[in-house]
Amino acid sequence: MLRYMSAKNLKKWRGQIGLLRVDLNIEPSQEESAYRLKAILPAIKLLLKNKNKIVILSHRGRPKWKDSKYSLSPLAKILEKRLGQKIKFLPFGNNFRGLRRDIDLSKNKIFLLENLRFWPGEAKNSPVFAKKLAILGDFYVNEAFAASHRKNASISVLPRFLPHYAGLSLASEMKNLDLAMRKYKHPLTLIIGGAKAIDKLGVIKYFLNKADRVLLGGGPANTFFKALGLDIRNSLFDPDAIPPIKKYLHNQKIILPSDFRANKDKILDIGPRTTVEFISLVKKSKTIIWNGPVGLFEKKGFERGSYQLAKAVARNRGFTLVGGGETTTIILKLGLENKIKFVSTGGGAMLDYLSGKKLPGIEILKR
Ligand code: ADP
Ligand code: MG
Repeated sequence: MLRYMSAKNLKKWRGQIGLLRVDLNIEPSQEESAYRLKAILPAIKLLLKNKNKIVILSHRGRPKWKDSKYSLSPLAKILEKRLGQKIKFLPFGNNFRGLRRDIDLSKNKIFLLENLRFWPGEAKNSPVFAKKLAILGDFYVNEAFAASHRKNASISVLPRFLPHYAGLSLASEMKNLDLAMRKYKHPLTLIIGGAKAIDKLGVIKYFLNKADRVLLGGGPANTFFKALGLDIRNSLFDPDAIPPIKKYLHNQKIILPSDFRANKDKILDIGPRTTVEFISLVKKSKTIIWNGPVGLFEKKGFERGSYQLAKAVARNRGFTLVGGGETTTIILKLGLENKIKFVSTGGGAMLDYLSGKKLPGIEILKR
């Protein structure tokens, strides 16, 4: 049974040390980062209110070993500003008992441990490393939905060694994604764009019999065209996805763009006719799930399809769910985050969840 973090559930841990696994895998300059940061603040505040000391755990980037470029120390400053509280940074080292002593003796309330991936055990999903991490706290909270699809020590093993809870943001992710998967209203529209078609196939497959239509743009649309034998010149497509999509090529629910904006020999955005068509289908929907920009929105002139689609989704009064790093960036750039029913903090984790896959970081919490 999954236990959720709540004021009531936390009472028995008053005064103890909580290990809070979050996702600070962010570039401080990106719009999306502010959203991910914001998502972890309520859990921190609840723990503080419960008089807990908090040790924040996160990975950042894919460093092979200690690489100062990927240090979490700049995030300590940023979090400090957000919380108006001092954060003590815990640098890399292997004396976890010593660290625990320091935390026990310290007057500080919040600690941030260095990038977990500086310890090779994290990515190796090592129980030995998870056990060392467990020394640092008395209970564990997973507030890192965006990392919960990973088999990493701090996500999928550490909860074995400590009493554990699902965090506030994790709970809200699960609730909203479950709504989209099981309590949706028709017409249900799935919109899939972005870069790698293969990453999106699970979601398309899961929703194909539930959705009324699946609108494709970006790399996935190009990949369908390629598989249909059309000449897409130098446009982005995903060769790995060609064999597995063969069986969907003539599916009536899948709607491909009918015109494009292109630059030289590359399709870079859906065209005006497609945009109008997609918007009108969005307008008629009662549930909308969107992942992946329908064009290279970073390049001027090719943001139009994605931006207009984002605005149409935001105008919809039904249940609207948006997720993915770049898709979220678009929503935040346009200031639409409060007009979307739920903006997920997850990219890969959301895609896995919406594919019906079990996430290791969530499954372990049920034990
Ligand atoms: P998300 O992060 O929202 O899950 P992805 O990572 O799958 O989305 O893909 C986002 C990227 O896909 C964006 O950087 C965007 O520029 C790119 N993209 C979308 N359509 C195209 C296209 N037609 N050509 C090249 N790149 C594209
Ligand atoms: Mg992305």
